[in-house]
Amino acid sequence: MIAMPANVSAKAEKVIIVGGGLAGLLVARELDRAGFAFELLEARDRLGGRILSVDANGNHSGDGFDLGPSWFWPEMQPALAALIGELGLADFRQHEQGDIVVQYRPDAPPERYPGGSFQQSASARVVGGTGAIIDAIAATLPAESIRRGLAVRSVALGDGSITVECRRAGDDLVTVSGSHLVIAMPPRLLAETILLDPPVDARAKEDWRRTSTWMAPHAKFFALYEKPFWREIGLSGAGRSVVGPLGEVHDATTASGNAALFGFVGVPARQRAEAGEEVVVAAAIRQLTAMFGLEAGKPIATLYKDWASDPFTATAADMEAPGHPDGCRSAGIDGLWAGRLFLAGSEASAREPGYLAGAVDAARRAVTELVRTVKAGARQISSSTTE
Ligand SMILES: Cc1cc2nc3c(=O)[nH]c(=O)nc-3n(C[C@H](O)[C@H](O)[C@H](O)COP(=O)(O)OP(=O)(O)OC[C@H]3O[C@@H](n4cnc5c(N)ncnc54)[C@H](O)[C@@H]3O)c2cc1C
Repeated sequence: MIAMPANVSAKAEKVIIVGGGLAGLLVARELDRAGFAFELLEARDRLGGRILSVDANGNHSGDGFDLGPSWFWPEMQPALAALIGELGLADFRQHEQGDIVVQYRPDAPPERYPGGSFQQSASARVVGGTGAIIDAIAATLPAESIRRGLAVRSVALGDGSITVECRRAGDDLVTVSGSHLVIAMPPRLLAETILLDPPVDARAKEDWRRTSTWMAPHAKFFALYEKPFWREIGLSGAGRSVVGPLGEVHDATTASGNAALFGFVGVPARQRAEAGEEVVVAAAIRQLTAMFGLEAGKPIATLYKDWASDPFTATAADMEAPGHPDGCRSAGIDGLWAGRLFLAGSEASAREPGYLAGAVDAARRAVTELVRTVKAGARQISSSTTE
């Protein structure tokens, strides 16, 4: 928690937070605890952003399948692990016991190899799904300060305040004002979709555009089953394929035992869009049947989420899959916006850009900088009034 000194009236400030993903909600939590008034504006009608945990029907669930992020690495990401613990949530290890299947050719049976991890360090999952983190944080926040279905399209810096203009579904415009602004969304999406007046310098904007949004070009497919039948035949549920459409497959069974396999669709975003969801899903089921046996061909339900076609995550530039973002160098803002605008999305983290842990890091850094700025402003006012 970030503490405010007693002589600073945090309530005199109102912080507008743009984005209700993990980073935006954490900013809200830290500001709320430090006594700041805030208003969080979220474009979607749900919170969580790239975090999305759903049931077999695709509805929000506290015991869901992770259509967005599923893993974190507690040994390497202690701040995220501590947050999950603080929120009263539990984690469990990614299921990896059993053999791995690898599909090299469409016309040959897949090969089976003794188990082991594709990943260098043990991956953990959150009981209930990563959406449980969002639900737990949101439950601690004043509901009237969280506004969904408001897509910010412009922000203007005036003498004493910042005015934010949003579009609500149904097309009417809503204006909100405050003293400070925290933008908790991918920098590239910010550069492409929100007009800043005055503009930030061209170098910063180019840096935002250059910073790819982690996993935005990707799609995830889930096949749900009555039971994790692959475990009974000594398979871990993990697989790799050069045939596709799924490049990489994993066991996605929930901690409560709802069985599933999931795969990252290896087909590029443009080709997926051309083929359409039905074609990709049918091909994925055929592939799972080839890799895991006939039972895999009879899922009780399927789930599919293409993040590249989601306008509140991806831009046209995200249709190509680039490498991992290396952090947005212009996360600190210069010029007229200095001390008024702060970037908090995961990609603004210098330490873990793109990851859940990056959202935690970027959110805390933004709040620390904001509180420092307000403190410095208060000190200036109190020294000028005593002169
Ligand atoms: C398929 C997939 C798998 C992933 N796997 C992992 C994993 O296993 N482990 C891991 O650590 N990370 C993973 N990630 C990355 C992880 O999801 C992100 O690092 C994290 O969720 C980012 O949180 P954020 O709050 O910074 O951004 P976001 O979650 O993108 O939140 C931004 C928010 O801003 C909102 N917004 C956008 N535009 C506007 C606007 N104009 N006005 C108002 N609101 C707006 C969005 O709706 C969204 O809610 C994965 C991501 C995906 C998509």
